[in-house]
Amino acid sequence: MLGPDARPFETIPAARSGGSAPARPDVDFTVVRNGMDYLRSAVRHLASSEGAEPVDHALKYAVLHLQAATEVLLKARLTHEHWSLVFTDPGAASWQNFTVGNFESCSLATTLDRLEKIAQVRLTPRERTAISSLAKTRNALTHYGHSASAYQVEAQAARVLGLLLNFVSEHLRPPQATETTFVELVMAEVRGRLGAINALVQDRMKQISCQLTQYADYMVICPDCRQCALVVGESPERPTCLFCLQKFGAPQEAALRWGWEVLGDPEHVDWYVDDCGCTEGAGCLLWPVNTAASPVEDVALCFSCGAVYVEVKHR
Ligand SMILES: [Zn+2]
Ligand SMILES: [Zn+2]
Repeated sequence: MLGPDARPFETIPAARSGGSAPARPDVDFTVVRNGMDYLRSAVRHLASSEGAEPVDHALKYAVLHLQAATEVLLKARLTHEHWSLVFTDPGAASWQNFTVGNFESCSLATTLDRLEKIAQVRLTPRERTAISSLAKTRNALTHYGHSASAYQVEAQAARVLGLLLNFVSEHLRPPQATETTFVELVMAEVRGRLGAINALVQDRMKQISCQLTQYADYMVICPDCRQCALVVGESPERPTCLFCLQKFGAPQEAALRWGWEVLGDPEHVDWYVDDCGCTEGAGCLLWPVNTAASPVEDVALCFSCGAVYVEVKHR
């Protein structure tokens, strides 16, 4: 049952432009231009590494600007629905604070929720995951000084660029022809670069295809690059991703991290770890897992020895 407090927008005056939103709204172009600038910068940083071993600096700014582009462009759509929706607390929003930019902006997760629930712009779970794993990489790079592998960034960037291209053409339409031209130019540049990145990702998968087949039974999706290339239980110390070369902690730690990042918060998603019978198997057996060899049927997988347990169905 909804009480009066459940409708915080009632007390907020409509934006100056007034009136109710048209079905496919035009959006404040300064915000869109800002987002497209970030997007262009992100692809240029990715392109700067072409042919050579990419430098950390270029990768870092590619991730930072891609993340900024995502946030700005998603919020541009939310702003059009109603400007108060980009405030952390829309109930406390004021037009004056909005116009001077003096407010705490809502988180990315909240942005996605409000887009879906209020603006009826729905992203697929796969798209949401692409956005949240890019956000994690961004945090790791900026706050903890981690370095990322070029493969990891390129695989992540390919997913996010693809979804932003769709998002911009479906949900953001600049009001004037000159502005449309700018958006189209950036979109063309991004599309071109996306093709190149996808080709790199495919080449890399082809390069490692022998290993991919060899380890298929205990190979799972990598939480960092999201390619199905993380081999568990092979190396004596830690699981390693064949695609992005990321190494994960001790098997027990890797199993937990994998559960959280790939399956989700155990409060909402049913998964657990158990002990495997192998020597170092305490807390390493994770359920449910899909492997390269078993992409549909759930199995239990030991992150220490790589043993696979198939559920026995009782009649
Ligand atoms: Zn990986
Ligand atoms: Zn085991």
